[in-house]
Amino acid sequence: MQPSRQSELELIKLTKRYGNTTAVDAIDLRIPSGSYCCLLGPSGCGKTSTLRMIAGHEDASDGDILLGSRNITVLPAAERGTAMMFQSYALFPHLTAQENVAFSLKMRGVAKAERLKRAQDLLERVAMGGYAQRKPAELSGGQQQRVALARALITEPSVLLLDEPLSALDPFLRIRMRAELKRWQLELGFTFVHVTHSQEEAMALADQVVVMNNGRIEQVATPHALFNAPATEFVARFMGGHNVLKHNDQTIAVRSDRMQLLRTPGRSSDALNATVQAIEYQGSYVLVSLGAEGDLTASDDLSVMLQEAEFFNAPFEVGTAVQVSWRAADAHRLSA
Ligand code: ADP
Repeated sequence: MQPSRQSELELIKLTKRYGNTTAVDAIDLRIPSGSYCCLLGPSGCGKTSTLRMIAGHEDASDGDILLGSRNITVLPAAERGTAMMFQSYALFPHLTAQENVAFSLKMRGVAKAERLKRAQDLLERVAMGGYAQRKPAELSGGQQQRVALARALITEPSVLLLDEPLSALDPFLRIRMRAELKRWQLELGFTFVHVTHSQEEAMALADQVVVMNNGRIEQVATPHALFNAPATEFVARFMGGHNVLKHNDQTIAVRSDRMQLLRTPGRSSDALNATVQAIEYQGSYVLVSLGAEGDLTASDDLSVMLQEAEFFNAPFEVGTAVQVSWRAADAHRLSA
């Protein structure tokens, strides 16, 4: 399979309205050819609507979708050069793995011998050649996932669209299949657009993470840039691992693992007094949750991640009064 070089995807003022609800609000986005892009955000932020418009399963209310040099906005799904990988439970239960994979070729009128051969080739490609005659119920969750991938690849798409493909799997399998998805994407070399509400999944997989909120894009960045320089308060809170503080009339984010805890309350300007409220052992780190005094905190909770050894050298206890501080260089300014 030769993925097209022309698999760059561009969304221009793409909009989806359902009656009075604007689900996707004039978003602009460029997804480079051959990259792994994750659309990330809380439930209802417009991820699935965006993916379904790219797939052609939902009409765009406004705006354009370009794939390579083609405007695909109003093309039928089957003519776009995109394919959707559904969750494994969307396999047809009464068909064999091979028949499942061959299904869309059948719909396109490809002769039986030809479509079964192509399906078998693809099953071999995802290490499922020996399971061609099994029905989905006779396969493990991970094996079903591979069949679902082969089924999506049979139309030789230049963009693969994945809608929460791992959410039905148990946590161990999810992490394993996540690694497989990444490997397949590198091997196949074409563009993957993957919808998820899990920051961890997006961080693990994506070259480019698109954080969405309320039908709009909050930030587009690499996982590393997103975690080290969240652009907005929403992104800092959604990604987790940050404290959002109001400091000198600015809103700042400081990574939880970049904060220091001292036993003696004090009055330094880049510090605040707090009380330890909970301690959670997390292996390499110990998570210390704090209730802060004064008006420095933007909100509710404050957390500090201490290296395991540092914590156990002189453990804090619930109720201990402490001073939380950070280096100015670790404070990252947020826009509203
Ligand atoms: P996400 O995938 O991020 O959870 P969706 O794209 O599914 O978000 O939904 C975005 C918004 O559009 C939500 O407010 C949702 O309720 C609404 N919505 C989605 N699909 C429909 C529909 N078919 N009819 C009406 N409203 C919808």
